[in-house]
Amino acid sequence: MKDSVFMEEMDAFSYRDKLAKGAVAFVPVGALEQHGSHMAMCVDAALTRDMAGATAEAVDAAGLGPAVVTAPINFGYRSQQRSGGGFHLSGTTSLSGSTIISLAKDICYNLIEDGVRKIVIMNGHYENYQFVFEGAQLALEQAHARGLGGAKIQLLSYWDFVDDDTIAALYPDGFTGWDLEHAGVMETSLMLLFHPDLVDMDRIDEDLYVGLPATMPNYDVLPIVADYTPPSGCLSHPGASTREKGIVLRDAAVAGMLGAIEREFGGLGDFHEN
Ligand SMILES: [Zn+2]
Repeated sequence: MKDSVFMEEMDAFSYRDKLAKGAVAFVPVGALEQHGSHMAMCVDAALTRDMAGATAEAVDAAGLGPAVVTAPINFGYRSQQRSGGGFHLSGTTSLSGSTIISLAKDICYNLIEDGVRKIVIMNGHYENYQFVFEGAQLALEQAHARGLGGAKIQLLSYWDFVDDDTIAALYPDGFTGWDLEHAGVMETSLMLLFHPDLVDMDRIDEDLYVGLPATMPNYDVLPIVADYTPPSGCLSHPGASTREKGIVLRDAAVAGMLGAIEREFGGLGDFHEN
C-alpha cells in the first residue's frame, strides 16, 4: 500500500498509529457546483482535498507531527448568486444548512471519539463557512458533555492565506475579491495544476463568457432573479489562468495555513488519553 495522508487510502492500523502520535486531522469541505463550461463540477471538493493533502504533507515535514485528511464533504450549502452563481443553476446540487451542520458535527465528533484532538476544517466553498462553524462548536459541546476534553478545532478557507503580494502579482489588472473568484483565475489555475484532465480552456466561449467580472447588487433576493448571474455561471473571467499561477497559489496558501496551524497546534505535544 502506498504511503498517503488521505484516510481513504490508509489502513486502520496505520491510521491509529498516527493518532497515537497526536495527528492533526484535516476535514475538507467542498461542493458539487457548476463552474462554467470549462471545468468539471467537482472543483470545490477536489481542490480542497488537494490543498488539505498538500498542507498535511507540509505539517508532517515541518515536524508538527503526522497529519491525516478525512474524506471530503463533497456537497455544499446552497450556492449563493453573489459568490457561486446561485443554487437555481442545473448541476449545482446543494445541501440545506442543517444537513451541513450535522455532517460537520458528526465527522468532528467521531474524530474526537477516536482520539483526535487537533482538527482543521478546511473550507473550499464560500457559502459553507458558518454552517461548519456551528457543527464544529456542537461537536465540542457533545465531546465535553461526554467527558472527552482537550479537543480544538481550527476553521479556515484556503484562499484567505494567499497574501497580498501574491494577489498583486497574479492579478495585475486588479483583484475583484474572493467572492467573485467563482470559476475564475484562482480555481481554474489550481485545477490546471491538480486536475488538468478536468479543465478545457478551449471551452471558454467568448460569446458565452460575457459580463465578467459580474456586477451584482449588494443584496440578495428570493426567488432568485436569474438574469443577475452571467450566462456562463462564472463570476470572473478565467482566461488568464495557468498551471504556473496554480503553483504560486498553492505554495502561498499552504505556507500561510502551515503558519496558522503551527500557531494553534504547535505546542500541544502528543495526544493523551482522557
Ligand atoms: Zn468553486
